[in-house]
Amino acid sequence: MSSTICALATAPGGALGIIRISGPQTLEILSRIFTKDLRNAQPNTIHYGHIIVQTSNPIDEVLVSVFRAPHSYTGEDSAEISCHGSRYILNKVIELLIQNGCRMAEPGEYTQRAFLNGKMDLSQAEAVADLIASSNKATHQLAISQLRGGISTELSRLREQLLKLTSLLELELDFSDHEDLEFADRSELFELTKEIDNHILKLAHSFEAGQAIKQGIPVAIIGKTNVGKSTLLNRLLHEERAIVSDVHGTTRDTIEDTIDIQGVTFRFIDTAGIRQTTDTIEQIGISRTYAAIEKARIVLWLIDAEPTQEEVQEIQERCQDKSLIIIQNKIDTQPATQPPIELCPLATGGTQETSNLRSSSARLLPEGRKKPQTSNLLRISAKHGTNIDALEQAIYQAANIPTISDSDIIVSNARHYNALLSAHHNISRVLEGMGGIMTNGEWSMIHESTSGDFLSEDLKLVLDDLADITGQGRIVTNEILSNIFTHFCVGK
Ligand code: GDP
Repeated sequence: MSSTICALATAPGGALGIIRISGPQTLEILSRIFTKDLRNAQPNTIHYGHIIVQTSNPIDEVLVSVFRAPHSYTGEDSAEISCHGSRYILNKVIELLIQNGCRMAEPGEYTQRAFLNGKMDLSQAEAVADLIASSNKATHQLAISQLRGGISTELSRLREQLLKLTSLLELELDFSDHEDLEFADRSELFELTKEIDNHILKLAHSFEAGQAIKQGIPVAIIGKTNVGKSTLLNRLLHEERAIVSDVHGTTRDTIEDTIDIQGVTFRFIDTAGIRQTTDTIEQIGISRTYAAIEKARIVLWLIDAEPTQEEVQEIQERCQDKSLIIIQNKIDTQPATQPPIELCPLATGGTQETSNLRSSSARLLPEGRKKPQTSNLLRISAKHGTNIDALEQAIYQAANIPTISDSDIIVSNARHYNALLSAHHNISRVLEGMGGIMTNGEWSMIHESTSGDFLSEDLKLVLDDLADITGQGRIVTNEILSNIFTHFCVGK
């Protein structure tokens, strides 16, 4: 029989603290330290009373919520004690629970039990940790969609298709002596396999967007000395940082250079150099600029005069797989009559104040999404704040974050991504085994294939890869479980 576990589920320091208990002895143990007998308590009920030592000394006035198996988070009998948030009280209640038969929960043990009792699959269990860690609208939506079974549903659909494919091939194999019988049209099977591979790849491709949302999107500000990079950075960070320091009482120094635009986090990379405004271009070094570009997904190239054709080409080349936004700063110093900077050979039209952005890449684009349009120069004054809204809009568009809805599956977990890559690798072997060849990223069937024997073996590997993600229909080793759940806190 499994043990009964307890842990503090809330962060210390609040007005209330919640202690979670789960396991078959929950109500038995609780009844020994509570003023009411809860052994026959109805499910989903709340009980008012006192936690007491040796049937008399009250420790605290509490509310106990009772959940009965299997209708609880863990699937076991469980309870939550809402106490006053005193460290002494919380420690004392946990101590009493342990004295009466509970043991301290391991990190993530509640969620692990929920998984083992079939209340959720592995990907949903992982989403619990993401949900608790979510800090903005986008990360929250990502986690909640996964928790609600977004990826699980998609995978079980793929699994069904794969099972169908495997059984068709196996049927053929069983009757292979009957040469006149044809069970499965190979070219149809080939098309079906291709379709499954495309789905797997689409999910794998979404990982980049998923990661970007989870980690924040790296942005580099580049440009010559005195062009206004540091002024722009401060302008972009200003409000955000002010809010953060007010709310959390944090100091400016410790805050990472990030901004949230429409619920998505953007991380400014390598900004230390930018802030040292006395550095000359030689000191900062051109290589440093290139290193910053390398790490970025979005590059803000600040100019105040017309760049040379070589410079434009150089930057464009280095930004081939990035979104590049070219910004003309200090427009306040230019007479209204001055013609806008012309960019050769990039410029495709006249200047626009607000923009679609120039993007040379679809790096963050999940397949099938529209590529951002290339655009013209964005004209701003970092000093006076002119057109900063438009710039923020352009940065947001450059990220090309898909709107996450229930039907939009975004993979954000590296474990899932690796399993998908492995599934793609194995299904490519199936396609090859069927006589397929890949040219220009497209599979085509060039000859009738070999034995169905190997094919169904490889298909089983694909099934296993997909099953690894949810843990369903697959034995999940203790190693995998502990890898996942040790990253949780105690109490989750
Ligand atoms: P960095 O070397 O690229 O980081 O440039 P700074 O941000 O240190 O700016 C260099 C100088 O340009 C400073 O004196 C800024 O006040 C000034 N500057 C920056 N942006 C603007 C702007 O939009 N208009 C004007 N007139 N001056 C600006």
